[in-house]
Amino acid sequence: MTLTEKILARAAGKTGVQAGDNIWVNADILMTHDVCGPGTIGVFKREFGKTAKVWDCNKVVIIPDHYIFTADSKSNRNVDILREFVKEQELPYFYDVIDDPEGKWVFDPAKGMLKKQYGSHYAGVCHTALPQKGHTRPGEVLFGTDSHTCMAGAFNQFATGIGNTDAGFVMGTGKLLIKVPETMHFRLEGKLQPGVMAKDVILHAIGEIGFDGATYRAMQFDGPGATALSMDDRMTIANMAIEAGGKNGIFEFDAQTQAYVDYRCKLNGTKTSYQPVERDRDEKFVFETVIELSKLEPTVACHPDPGQRKKAKELGHVKLDRAYIGSCTGGKTSDFLEFARVLKGRRVTIDTFGVPATPEIVHDLQTARWGEKTVWEVLVDAGVQMTENAGCAACLGGPVDTFGRMNTPLKCISATNRNFPGRMGHKESQVFLASPGTVAASALTGHITDPREFLS
Ligand code: SF4
Repeated sequence: MTLTEKILARAAGKTGVQAGDNIWVNADILMTHDVCGPGTIGVFKREFGKTAKVWDCNKVVIIPDHYIFTADSKSNRNVDILREFVKEQELPYFYDVIDDPEGKWVFDPAKGMLKKQYGSHYAGVCHTALPQKGHTRPGEVLFGTDSHTCMAGAFNQFATGIGNTDAGFVMGTGKLLIKVPETMHFRLEGKLQPGVMAKDVILHAIGEIGFDGATYRAMQFDGPGATALSMDDRMTIANMAIEAGGKNGIFEFDAQTQAYVDYRCKLNGTKTSYQPVERDRDEKFVFETVIELSKLEPTVACHPDPGQRKKAKELGHVKLDRAYIGSCTGGKTSDFLEFARVLKGRRVTIDTFGVPATPEIVHDLQTARWGEKTVWEVLVDAGVQMTENAGCAACLGGPVDTFGRMNTPLKCISATNRNFPGRMGHKESQVFLASPGTVAASALTGHITDPREFLS
């Protein structure tokens, strides 16, 4: 069996499964957020009754993150609905925007977009917050009401996005009927060259198979090249499995996975026991390829979909209005460090927005020092508009006052993960997906630029 099949077999209480089998699996974690949480709660109450209790209060994790820093009252209200449900169900894992459990969430635009407006429990973008808060464990099954839930496959778990109806059912029963996906095998060999990042790996892979090339399939990444990648890098790659239509992305378990997960689970007092899955000799793949990491170059997915692959060096003619770094995929500490490394001592020439994925990342950047200055100061000095309000922000467009949202038909280079028309706001805007390094280099020149031009 493949890694995915082994996890699903275990979660179904079976000794073996194969692609195409329909099986009932037990969920280890159900995650929802402010966009889909209210709908999921509605389905749960309608189907199980107004006084029903969730199947296991320690397995439901609720993370408001999407439409948070906006004066839109309906969006603010969604967070209040989550809070009311958490209180009623006595759920321990709710990462509220405010500290007062009796309060109401109201964003104050008069305070501006840059200074933080959240309390001590707030965790930021769900997919980045889940591992940071100790909710991702090898060998487990994670369902989330968000397509990029597949990011947690970096931790050797089966993680996939589901709709509100399925999530309402999981909330009541802890189970879901799943068709076992076929597995595509991506063996990574070699080492990334300077200026080339994990984002380039996944943009390359999606370019090979197209934005629907992995539809309802597992994407398994392994080999010596995968072992050499950091956990942040693996998260970037697993996150974008869905951009090829994948059901999930998954990596092998190793010492790095173990160190990360053990540290985070202990730090947060979450469950520390887990059982990883290892590769079998008799894995059956529907597709196999080898990606030689040392041959990859800075890569861009052009408008209008993540499969429109080109090399950054071929796109110098594409003039840009805006650059954006942020999201679960591209707003991690390591992403900002690479971004800052290119920008240090220089000035951006186009509007450039920076949105860390979580408050912990804000803290990392405001405390990491490069000589006299923090990394945060390096970025601000370079002209980047950095907000402390960690969250999804303009990655998903959002209400019209969302930080970094494109309200006119602009061209933007972005470290985010999705670029279908209208994704970051205006339906005629164009988004070019790239690594944080390529976004930084392009922000400096005002056109798409290979970051190796700025590396000494
Ligand atoms: S940052 Fe973007 S991709 Fe990630 S969860 Fe938020 S909206 Fe989705």
